[in-house]
Amino acid sequence: MKILKNTKFPGFKLKGHCKKCGKCCRNITFMIENKYVIEKEEFERMKTFDPKYKHFFISGKDEKGILLFTCKSLGDDNLCGDYFFRSFYCRLYPRIMMKSIKAGAVFPEECGYYVEIL
Ligand code: SF4
Ligand code: SF4
Repeated sequence: MKILKNTKFPGFKLKGHCKKCGKCCRNITFMIENKYVIEKEEFERMKTFDPKYKHFFISGKDEKGILLFTCKSLGDDNLCGDYFFRSFYCRLYPRIMMKSIKAGAVFPEECGYYVEIL
C-alpha cells in the first residue's frame, strides 16, 4: 500500500509508516445512514443496491456487535492483489481517516501510523 507520509491536517500530523499488516483491509466497518452495519441481512441488501460491496465478505464482529469485513483483494501475504486498480478510498488511506481520527477514531493497534497533535 503506497501511503503519504507526514500528511498535514489542521491540528494533527500523520506520522509513521505502513508495516504491511493488512489490518486496514481486514477489519473494515461500513456505515449506512450514520449507523454501523450489524446485520448480515442488511449487508445482503447493500450488495443489491451497490455492487462495490460484493468486493467484501463478513469476517467477524467486534465487541459491540458491529460487523467486520475483509476485502476480497487482500492476499495471504497481507498485500493488495489489486494494487493498481484499488479504489480512491484505498489510495487515500490513511490520510482519508484524519477527519475520523479527529472525531476520536483510532488506527488499528498493529498499524504503523499514528497522529501527532500539534
Ligand atoms: S483493494 Fe487492496 S488496498 Fe483496498 S481494501 Fe482491498 S486489499 Fe486493501
Ligand atoms: S493497518 Fe496500517 S500498517 Fe497495517 S497495512 Fe494498514 S496502513 Fe499499513
